[in-house]
Amino acid sequence: MKHIGKKLIPAVMLLLFESVAVALWLTKDNLFYLFNFSFIGLSVSLGIFLYNRKYKHARRVVQLLVGTYMLIYLGLICNENMQIEGFWYYLFTGVFEAATIHYAVAKLLGPLIFGRGWCGYACWTAMVLDFLPYKTPSGPRKKIGWIRYITFAASLLFVSALFLAKVGSIERIMFWAFIVGNLVYYALGIALAFAFKDNRAFCKYICPITVFLKPMSYFSLFRVKCDKSKCVGCGQCRRVCPMDVDITDNSRKRKNGTECILCMECVKHCPKDAL
Ligand code: SF4
Ligand code: SF4
Ligand code: SF4
Repeated sequence: MKHIGKKLIPAVMLLLFESVAVALWLTKDNLFYLFNFSFIGLSVSLGIFLYNRKYKHARRVVQLLVGTYMLIYLGLICNENMQIEGFWYYLFTGVFEAATIHYAVAKLLGPLIFGRGWCGYACWTAMVLDFLPYKTPSGPRKKIGWIRYITFAASLLFVSALFLAKVGSIERIMFWAFIVGNLVYYALGIALAFAFKDNRAFCKYICPITVFLKPMSYFSLFRVKCDKSKCVGCGQCRRVCPMDVDITDNSRKRKNGTECILCMECVKHCPKDAL
């Protein structure tokens, strides 16, 4: 029964994304939404299917498919700023399109269901950072997570200033902000990864989007849980976790619980099949 359930997950995910795709296509009368969410749904379902077949790079396949689609097609070809500045921009203009829909689905409401799955499977910044050599952090976590609030406030101030100053062609500025913003994120992310010997240092300390993602994912429906009757306390799950999560604690208050990106490394490496 458990086996059948596992096989059905890709189909359920596809159905979920198709429902969003069709609903948005019809309500917004825009075929783009059908294509967009169908592509993402197919990529996610393919990833889960490959994971069930024990393909080692299943997560990376989804990350590369969705990440490059968003960066190259949506960002560079369609000129949609899907960074946080783009979200503020569309929010201020009162348009429920592109970046606002993206944020609602992936970063505000979605995390209530799939936690920080965005960070593990779709983010184009992490897509590049995950190629770096420090897949698991070699030192303790630094106490500099407060920087994310500064970058969050800076992005809000930047877009607010453009609106207050009534700057013309904000849309063009948003496109260039997307290019420059991404270059800065990549440069900073790579530098931090090497400095801290931790691929995900940028995610842990700098990324402004975590200001949304962390509190929402606290309530996530999908969570990795530990079967205490099987766990022998070997600590292997802690050693392989890129985000320093104490996954053996099943409470919502588990250490670094809102950092879990559902990468499943702990599940794959648990010698007792306890996760
Ligand atoms: S924390 Fe930010 S940079 Fe890292 S994966 Fe999540 S959204 Fe991307
Ligand atoms: S790897 Fe498995 S057995 Fe070891 S501590 Fe983690 S959950 Fe327990
Ligand atoms: S290794 Fe486990 S606890 Fe750590 S981020 Fe991945 S899924 Fe979450």
